[in-house]
Amino acid sequence: MAKRVVFLGPPSSGKGTQAKRLALRLGVPAISTGEMLRAAVAAGNELGRRVEGVMAQGHLVDDALMAEVVTARLHESDARQGFLLDGYPRTAPQASTLQAILEATEAQLDHVLLVEAPIEILVQRTLGRNEGRQDDTEEIVRERLRVYAELTAPLVDHYESQGLLRRIDGNQPMDVVERQIAAAVEG
Ligand code: AMP
Repeated sequence: MAKRVVFLGPPSSGKGTQAKRLALRLGVPAISTGEMLRAAVAAGNELGRRVEGVMAQGHLVDDALMAEVVTARLHESDARQGFLLDGYPRTAPQASTLQAILEATEAQLDHVLLVEAPIEILVQRTLGRNEGRQDDTEEIVRERLRVYAELTAPLVDHYESQGLLRRIDGNQPMDVVERQIAAAVEG
């Protein structure tokens, strides 16, 4: 059965790790827009040059550019039978874009998983994880959380009203979170 899943949640909620695990379980690609953009920056290609500054500030890449990136990726053959989106949509216009992409192929989202954790825990996790990302100063981390609260958190209500939202407590051991996610998707 096709599985189309969106992961919502603030930075460092653990959703990236969980998205990869669930994608393996479901046999669908895990599509992280953040990873795609970081790869473009590392490659130094045109997309990378366009997004580098915005990303370093903890701000969002503009919706039109993200629409190009996501539309192209979702049209790749491996995403036809399902996908797991991690980090998209992040704004109301992005949710509309995703809806339009799905409607064009008469597809639907199956689940939206919200992985939540208290803000102070997220800040400490991000600062402690030492991925070597130069932009992980406390100021930038808090700015990303502020952007999440302002632009992305409203999508929770949007998907809740569609009956698609499942809330997962991300402030638990990773294996417990993984089990609860698997149950939410199978249940
Ligand atoms: P992430 O790894 O998902 O936290 O994404 C890292 C950064 O990439 C974000 O802070 C944004 O600058 C950018 N980014 C990733 N996904 C999106 C998106 N859907 N819309 C706008 N910017 C994005």
